[in-house]
Amino acid sequence: MSKFVRSTTSRYKFGAHISAAGGISNSVTNAYNIGCNGFAMFLKSPRKWISPAYTPEEIEKFKENCQQCNYNPLTDILPHGQYFINLANPDEEKAQKAYDSLIDDLGRCEQLGIGLYNLHPGSSLKGDHEAQLKQLAQYLNKAIKETKFVKIVLENMAGTGSLIGSNLEDLKFVIDLIEDKTRIGVCVDTCHTFAAGYDLVTREAYEKFWQQFSDTIGYKYLSAVHLNDSKAPLGANRDLHEKLGEGFLGLEVFRMIAHDEHLQGLPLILETPQPTNEGYGEEVKMLEWLETLSSPDDKKLAQKNQELQDRGEKSRKDQQTKFAVKQKKGTKRKKSDSENDITAHLSKQKRVNKT
Ligand SMILES: [Zn+2]
Ligand SMILES: [Zn+2]
Repeated sequence: MSKFVRSTTSRYKFGAHISAAGGISNSVTNAYNIGCNGFAMFLKSPRKWISPAYTPEEIEKFKENCQQCNYNPLTDILPHGQYFINLANPDEEKAQKAYDSLIDDLGRCEQLGIGLYNLHPGSSLKGDHEAQLKQLAQYLNKAIKETKFVKIVLENMAGTGSLIGSNLEDLKFVIDLIEDKTRIGVCVDTCHTFAAGYDLVTREAYEKFWQQFSDTIGYKYLSAVHLNDSKAPLGANRDLHEKLGEGFLGLEVFRMIAHDEHLQGLPLILETPQPTNEGYGEEVKMLEWLETLSSPDDKKLAQKNQELQDRGEKSRKDQQTKFAVKQKKGTKRKKSDSENDITAHLSKQKRVNKT
């Protein structure tokens, strides 16, 4: 039926952020058709605060599709929360509005039998950073009490300053305040990690980062990984995803991921700027191919990496120049930058929705 047959031998749940256009149950078949072993989607429109509830028929269809396509919704699916949910907002009215949308999302997960939910931890904006971290934890505790089983998975971020989760310590601080620790987890985004200043490129750097993760947060909280290469250089604080191998990370990072025992069984989700679902299908197959390469010195790996690095060369040069100019000026990252990054995320999703 499809050229992207789902792997039954991979030890990893490689997959992608999939379109749910036309109904949430379509995300399941869309993921299956491109060979995903795990996947992500939005539970409702990422651009609107309020969306219509699921019909009982749609919920039933989703569950049926999961069964037919052999996805366990408790472990294989990681829906993505709306980017504008900010539970750390010092403006109480806005934080409450965000909380309402979060509860709606978590309710949708539980209706569908989904066990994991990915959330951007938000921003303390002009508030006191630590006070806003506490507020975030309070809202999360409340949300956990109001729901039954879904685990809230906090994603690490690329930015600095008021953005929460740009360092592992922020996430650790919030987790420490969560009463039911079985309901909280962390998603590591490879692009965000690198852009936040944690190098991953060499074997040594890769291991150092995960050691830091293990020491600060602990592997028991690791619930998912977002697989993205980075358009921007190390420490640029820009949330700019790139296709695997074309950015500053390069293929070897993803080969190491495809051999990392700690990541087995977790949803490993692509959010690269692929114009079509088929593009994701190709990347999933490439990840499964990387899993078969036991050595970093493999000739085919070097060849493929060169091919992809060549494709991304111009973009990397442009970003390198922008970053150098920014560093020279010593200017702080403008707010409009992070807004642009979010718009880039959304416009990417728009394209995917069309396909
Ligand atoms: Zn991500
Ligand atoms: Zn991102």
